[in-house]
Amino acid sequence: MKKREALDLKCEEWEALFEGWKEPRYRASQVCDWIYKKRVLGFDDMTNLSLPLRSRLKEALDLSLPVLIERRQSSRGDAIKYLWKLHDGESVESVVMRYEGRDTACLSTQVGCPLGCSFCATGKSGFVRNLTSGEIVGQFLAMEADIGDSIENAVYMGMGEPFLNLDAVFDSVRNLNHPKMRALGIRHIAISTVGIVSGIRALAHSGLKVRLAVSLHAPNDDLRTQLMPVNVSNPLSSLYKALKSFQEITGERISIEYMLISDINDELSLADELADYLKGLHVYINLIPYNPTDGSFKRPPRGRVEAFRKRLEELGYEVALRKGLGVDIEAACGQLRRRTLI
Ligand code: SAH
Ligand code: SF4
Repeated sequence: MKKREALDLKCEEWEALFEGWKEPRYRASQVCDWIYKKRVLGFDDMTNLSLPLRSRLKEALDLSLPVLIERRQSSRGDAIKYLWKLHDGESVESVVMRYEGRDTACLSTQVGCPLGCSFCATGKSGFVRNLTSGEIVGQFLAMEADIGDSIENAVYMGMGEPFLNLDAVFDSVRNLNHPKMRALGIRHIAISTVGIVSGIRALAHSGLKVRLAVSLHAPNDDLRTQLMPVNVSNPLSSLYKALKSFQEITGERISIEYMLISDINDELSLADELADYLKGLHVYINLIPYNPTDGSFKRPPRGRVEAFRKRLEELGYEVALRKGLGVDIEAACGQLRRRTLI
């Protein structure tokens, strides 16, 4: 019989497993403590469990992390990028961003992505499959193991679209957040979506208080559809309604990601249009200079990025300019996997 992946198990499933074995329920806390808090990934090393129980766990479950294929550290030391191999030989990337004393794990949710945004290396490689909850959590734990320290923030901004893999993504958030498991603060977790309206609505009703980031990148349907084909089925008007109702239900501020590509979406008139579109929403805007992938687009000159930012600020928005972390290690997700595939 195929073993279950231990990292897929929810807290209640661990408890049910031990109950079924006529073991006390607190065994679940003990095992989760080893895995999620002490970073011990072998049942053999769980010394407060009896030897027969350790053997039984080994027979029933597979407890393993994704396997490192490649690791790259940026020259400034502000990012480490990993390429991992999964059980079926597929590969995904994740990144640890180390910025002003805060470590943040950037997690992938799919192998590839079916949405094909024109600027994105992941989109260009096509779609292979969804990740399981255990594979998402596994990236986080593997990076903590690699740096030998705890990471206190997670962003679902790696390869893939989280809202096309809702169940696994929500389960992984619950396991990272659960007090008996990784106990990561829910406010320290953010999900980035390309703007899947049904997913935004599902998140609003899920009760998960994670932060929401939306990759907008263009303030009108013509331009947005050119860059992001998903805009045809999720146009800006529907997206706006979903964001508005998300805000009414959760009371949360939303992060709007706007990547600036030279001569494509960095005209000042687009800053005005963006400001208009966002009226009535409580947002902050993250401007991200495009990270060149294959030469078809360019990053705007610094002055143009600053001008775009200034205009939005003048129009009353809070704007952050995201540093181009780890440009030298191809930190835009999807780039490393794509290069190793070609
Ligand atoms: N699918 C989700 C999450 C993964 S992409 C989404 O699209 O939001 C994470 C972020 O990286 C998105 O905002 C995406 O637009 C951005 N991105 C993709 N390619 C990029 C590049 N070459 N340079 C900078 N940002 C990029
Ligand atoms: Fe998919 Fe996001 Fe890349 Fe678009 S930007 S192709 S949605 S991963």
